Amino acid sequence: MFALSSDRVALRFGDRVLTHAELGSCAGALAGQLSGLPRVAIWATPTIETCVAVVAALLAGVPAVPLNPKVGERELAHIVADSAPAQVLAAPGASLPTGLDSVPRRDVTLDGGTFEPFVGPDDEAPALIVYTSGTTGSPKGVVLPRRALVSTLDAVAEAWQWTSDDVLVHALPLFHVHGLILGVLGPLRRGGTLWHLGKFSTTELARALDGDATMMFGVPTMYHRIAEEVGSNTGLSAALGKARLLVSGSAALPVRDHERIAAATGQRVVERYGMTETLMNTSVRADAERRPGAVGVPLPGVEVRLVDDHGGVLDEPGAVGEIQVRGPNLFTEYLNRPDATAEAFADGWFRTGDVGTRDPDGYYRIVGRKATDIIKSGGYKIGAGEIENALLEHPAVAEVAVTGEPDDDLGERIIAWVVPAREVPAQELVDHVARLLTPHKRPRVVRFVESLPRNDMGKVMKRALGT
Ligand code: ATP
Ligand code: MG
Repeated sequence: MFALSSDRVALRFGDRVLTHAELGSCAGALAGQLSGLPRVAIWATPTIETCVAVVAALLAGVPAVPLNPKVGERELAHIVADSAPAQVLAAPGASLPTGLDSVPRRDVTLDGGTFEPFVGPDDEAPALIVYTSGTTGSPKGVVLPRRALVSTLDAVAEAWQWTSDDVLVHALPLFHVHGLILGVLGPLRRGGTLWHLGKFSTTELARALDGDATMMFGVPTMYHRIAEEVGSNTGLSAALGKARLLVSGSAALPVRDHERIAAATGQRVVERYGMTETLMNTSVRADAERRPGAVGVPLPGVEVRLVDDHGGVLDEPGAVGEIQVRGPNLFTEYLNRPDATAEAFADGWFRTGDVGTRDPDGYYRIVGRKATDIIKSGGYKIGAGEIENALLEHPAVAEVAVTGEPDDDLGERIIAWVVPAREVPAQELVDHVARLLTPHKRPRVVRFVESLPRNDMGKVMKRALGT
């Protein structure tokens, strides 16, 4: 899966650096101690130890469960009971919550050892068990085989022309697909470098891009911060302008932020679409048009289709339907949830629960999630994202989330939750949407709030709005 033999820098966290060969040596030593365990958990702080632990588990063929170090008591109890780890691997000195008291701890040290190139178990054996973000319900343990990891990493490498010369910079958490699988295993598989910032800061980001960093990964909340600053911070815009590739994912990148970054830096952010269960599905290719609001084309080896409510496949451009996916990038099952696993598939296709549409030339757009973003109002099916993008074009709107609420007349009525940038009459926002889109897409209610409830990936938790 990784060569781990070169003297090139593999991992850089602050002033702590490991080459590929050094990483192979310390992960190899740890792998020897893990060998034979049924499963381990990893206390996934943003540290070099987390990366060593994950690589060691992969080398040993021991399935690993990365844990969010900010996990709450109830969620931790669920994950520990669900995944039953034999040990928890943690950086020395990391303090673990009492919810992990029942699990023996092993400190991850960076002692060198011999690195035995790993052979077997087979590619279908579970490699990582990653819990979903819990945006729409309680997190599910997604069992990912090595086959899925390798296929997604090679597919994005092809689409992004990602090589061993690339130095990737990011500040993503290391317990989800984005930060861990793409953001750590990606550079290791390419033989390139990860420069992890520990914590997101535009100053540190600019420093990395002014140094040798060539690519950046981020979630839309980070690009929003960049978009807010980039017009007045010439150092930041110059640094971003030098990057080979800026990639966004995990949630929709608002068109307004895409455009503001492009105007100030000359760089158009590349958007990709994936999920824990499927890893990466589509992406804008590095050498193709970077279209705001679009998530690009199916990655090599991945099949994508759109399906209507009756299971019919939609082929016409512009048709709106559920996105279904098939390919070597898919997970095997939800841990201990045969019911949920069976429900998630239709004739071998994974039902993403996301609704999308395809442009005439094959670019996909995500309309939203079936569960929370499709509002059925007055006989229309309306995507929240389109209204959100329209509202963000109004200068008085800093952040926004659009939801539906039961309504006697309309079935559902459109609610806009707005974090205002300055005072603005609600009616002005309603009229703005009616003018830009169509009148039936206008919000019936505007609720001004101080902030939106977001999870650790910056995704808006729409379930938490209004409760
Ligand atoms: P849960 O499944 O527990 O509710 P979650 O779906 O947020 O949580 P993830 O697997 O981390 O957990 O996220 C995948 C989802 O994120 C996708 O199904 C999609 O809704 C959204 N997503 C990812 N990338 C994009 C993107 N580029 N544009 C729009 N949405 C995206
Ligand atoms: Mg999901």
